[in-house]
Order: sequence, then C-alpha cells, then structure tokens
Amino acid sequence: MSDQNFRSILTGSFSTPCADNPTVAMIEAAYRHAGIDARYINCDVQAGNLADAVKGAVAMEWVGFNCSLPHKVAVIEHLDELTDAARIIGAVNCVTIRDGRMIGNNTDGKGFLASLKDVVDPSGKKIFLLGAGGAARAIAVELGLAGAAHITVVNRDAAKAETIAALVRDNTDSDATATPWEGKARIPDGTDVVINATSIGLGDADALPEIDLGTLKKGQIVADVIPNPPMTRLLREAREKGCTPLDGLGMLVNQGVIGVELWLGKTLDADVMKKTLRDIFDVSDA
Ligand code: NDP
Repeated sequence: MSDQNFRSILTGSFSTPCADNPTVAMIEAAYRHAGIDARYINCDVQAGNLADAVKGAVAMEWVGFNCSLPHKVAVIEHLDELTDAARIIGAVNCVTIRDGRMIGNNTDGKGFLASLKDVVDPSGKKIFLLGAGGAARAIAVELGLAGAAHITVVNRDAAKAETIAALVRDNTDSDATATPWEGKARIPDGTDVVINATSIGLGDADALPEIDLGTLKKGQIVADVIPNPPMTRLLREAREKGCTPLDGLGMLVNQGVIGVELWLGKTLDADVMKKTLRDIFDVSDA
C-alpha cells in the first residue's frame, strides 16, 4: 500500500463576478510556500445558487470559504453560528466549517485592524472615516471593539453614516458621530487616523476623495482600503504632508492570513502574499 495522500484540503470563495478577484493567487502562493497541500477554489456563484454552493462545500468537506459580493449578507441564513463581530456588522465574508457546522465571521475589518496595528494601536485614538459602505461598517465596528476613543463617519448619504455611528455606540465602548459629506471634508484638529473606506481610487491613480488637504497634519496616519493601485493619490498627498500612509494591500493580505488561521490553524507568510499581489497589480515597492 502506498502512503501517499492525494487528497488536498479544500478552501475557496463564492462570489459573482469572480474572475477579477486575485485572492486565489495570493492564498495558493502562500499555501505552496508553506508546503501545505490545500487548494483555494475561486467559484462564480450566482445569488440563486448560494444555498446549493454552501451545501456543496459542507458535502465535500471543505474546511471553509470566503464570501464576497453579493453574498456577504445572504449567506447568514445558511450558517449555524456567527461571531460577535459578524453579528454586529451584519455581514459575513469568511465561513469556517467544523464537524459540519458553519461559523460565520467577518475578516474585512480585522484585516484592516491588523494592518493598522503595524503602525499604531487604535485604542484611545480619534478616527476620521470616509465612507459608509460594507468596508467602512466592518472597519468602524472593529475599531470600536479595539477601543478607539471616537469615530467620525463621513458619507454623502448621511443616513448610512448615522447607521454605522449608532452601531459603534450601541455595541462598543467607543463614541461615534455621523457627518454628511458636503463639499471638501475638513479633518478635525486632534484626529489621529484618517481612513478612506470609499471606492474612490479603485483602478484610478488620480482620483482623490473630496477633502481639504490643508487640514491634514504631519504625523497623522492616513489609510486607504483601495488595494489597486495601492499608492492612491490620497496616500501620495498625505506622504507629502508628512503623514504616515497605509495602503489597502495590507488589509487584503491580513484578511487572507486571518481566514486561513481560522480554517487551518496555520499562519501564512504575509510577505509572500503581498509580493504575489504586487506582481499581479504590477506595482513596485516604491
Ligand atoms: P460599497 O459600495 O458598500 O460602499 C462604497 C462607499 O463609497 C459608500 O460609502 C459611497 O458613498 C462611497 N462613495 C463612492 N463613490 C463616492 C464618491 N464619488 N464620493 C463620495 N463617496 C463615494 O463598497 P464597499 O464598502 O464594499 O467597498 C469600498 C471599497 O473598499 C472598494 O473599493 C473595495 O475595493 C475596497 N475594499 C478593500 C478591501 C481590502 O481588503 N483592501 C476589502 C473590502 C473592500 P454613498 O453611500 O454616499 O454612495
């Protein structure tokens, strides 16, 4: 009898469209680097097929999967359990399957937080958050759970900003307020961290969120969720002003690292993942 094992551990992602999602390349490069016999299958799953896809993952004994658009909320009804953060955020992007039970987590905000913690501990800090979509919501909740002193949520649609501010106030010890985004947003004095969590800058190196750049202060951390191109115009302008820029690649890599820790209990090499994404996005280390 051969002692060879031809059965790989199965992980992956359900979304649609999925063809432009580079997560598979990032994670499989790190699996190979770590010598882990696991696959990450990037599946195009239409909304009406989500229930079957989830059942299929359990039937084939996948250890977990990511959910991206449009399944982050819809997947919840198929799961057995939610982590506290996923429950508060109201969206799941990472499911762990253990003994046939599915546990929903949200690693978007955790990935951002891990990246932020490389430059600053958000505990006690004042945050200025642009945007009130899914990414902003996950980031705000994780910052609240991590003990941020105050979060100002700024959005064109002010009602969405207030929903997030209320989520933070009601579920964490942090304070939060909402501000409508009218004209050029001014960064309040005393702000420690400015975050662009809008989609402005995605695929457009010249796009800039409407903020008064003169209100950025030397020493502030300025973070962007945009992974491609990573060095957005906002980050370039911030660097010019003596701020510390933090790109969206770190968030993407860290949520991958956290997801695989949940699935396999193993920590992948973040540098291998980041290099894979940089090669795909064709960016240098400048
Ligand atoms: P949503 O569509 O849920 O939210 C988009 C947000 O951007 C809204 O707040 C919207 O405002 C705002 N917005 C868009 N265009 C403008 C504009 N011209 N002026 C002002 N505000 C604008 O998207 P997500 O939250 O899911 O994603 C946001 C970005 O985060 C995407 O680019 C995505 O690629 C990135 N992302 C990065 C991740 C990473 O790992 N690096 C992970 C997840 C997301 P309004 O509500 O007023 O329309």
